[in-house]
Amino acid sequence: MKTTRIVLASRPTGMPEDENFRTETVELEGPGPGQALLQTLYLSLDPYMRGRMSDAPSYAPPVEVGETMCGATVSRVLESTDPALQPGDIVLGYGGWQTHSVEAIGYLRKLDPSTAPVTTALGVLGMPGFTAYSGLLTIGRPQEGETVVVAAATGPVGATVGQIAKIKGARAVGIAGGPKKVALLRDYFGFDAALDHRAPDFADQLAAATPDGIDVYFENVGGPVFDAVLPRLNKFARIPVCGLIANYNDTELPPGPDRLPLLTSLILRKSLTLRGFIQTEFQNQAGEFYPAAAEWLSEGRLKYLEDIVEGLDNAVEAFQGLLTGKNLGKLVIKIAD
Ligand code: NAP
Repeated sequence: MKTTRIVLASRPTGMPEDENFRTETVELEGPGPGQALLQTLYLSLDPYMRGRMSDAPSYAPPVEVGETMCGATVSRVLESTDPALQPGDIVLGYGGWQTHSVEAIGYLRKLDPSTAPVTTALGVLGMPGFTAYSGLLTIGRPQEGETVVVAAATGPVGATVGQIAKIKGARAVGIAGGPKKVALLRDYFGFDAALDHRAPDFADQLAAATPDGIDVYFENVGGPVFDAVLPRLNKFARIPVCGLIANYNDTELPPGPDRLPLLTSLILRKSLTLRGFIQTEFQNQAGEFYPAAAEWLSEGRLKYLEDIVEGLDNAVEAFQGLLTGKNLGKLVIKIAD
């Protein structure tokens, strides 16, 4: 069995360019004992992949130059060495940017296509949805009537954060890039207020949309959005620091002045809680997240939006678009029917 795969050809400086990737077709070995041969149906593209392209210190090891780009996948089982998995079964795995993979059966999760579309296992019912759930409820702890603000709010993390905030009785303010996304926040996802971070008067709009200040700021982006949020934070505000996508392609620190003393004095004066997290640290909440999210989904209280791009050949361009806000919802590459 051959696989066509996209490997990391070189490490990017700044925005990943086409030449940082290479497509090649190679022979797959196996499956050996405890392994399955899989055909990739859908590949998840996520912002964290930018971090894996770099060898700077991080919470996870980088993809090595020449290795297949990493990524979660929904795949069809072609061959299995364990009766628990049969050919034709659909599984969630971590096959990466390729058409076929050989994976350890112990790391695969069998999906039931009759309960929800299988692509949701990469988004609202998968890692991004779980990230939103744990970060918001464990660190953000929104209370009834409080104001929760989140950016990248049409994406799988942000949209889920806003909707869970509403389910918990809080007021949700969503921030996104461009009028189309802003309309979706209001009309489809049901945010109480929706703002465009690219608007020249964004900081004023945020002040108007948060008349009682901000109790929870779910940090997905950093950059100028964080600057506008800071003065609006209430005493005892909680800030789950989930992602900083505005900085992922930075090659150096921004020019001064040094605003760290301003930030630390605000943390002190307003008794703020800033707490970074990586989703995997909340694995022990899986037993509560999956049933809760599935129920909210079936009740129509949790909606999702997917941006499905056809073909592995389009993965690089789609990934570059993710880092500049071109995606409209959870970005997924469809590799096979
Ligand atoms: P996503 O929202 O589908 O895609 C990223 C979005 O970020 C873009 O569509 C764009 O939305 C926004 N963006 C890009 N550049 C920006 C900039 N310079 N300033 C402001 N916004 C910008 O992605 P996602 O999968 O839901 O992830 C959202 C965040 O959560 C990311 O930072 C990601 O790294 C983080 N995350 C963290 C964990 C964890 O374990 N801590 C797990 C999953 C995800 P707009 O067009 O609306 O600006």
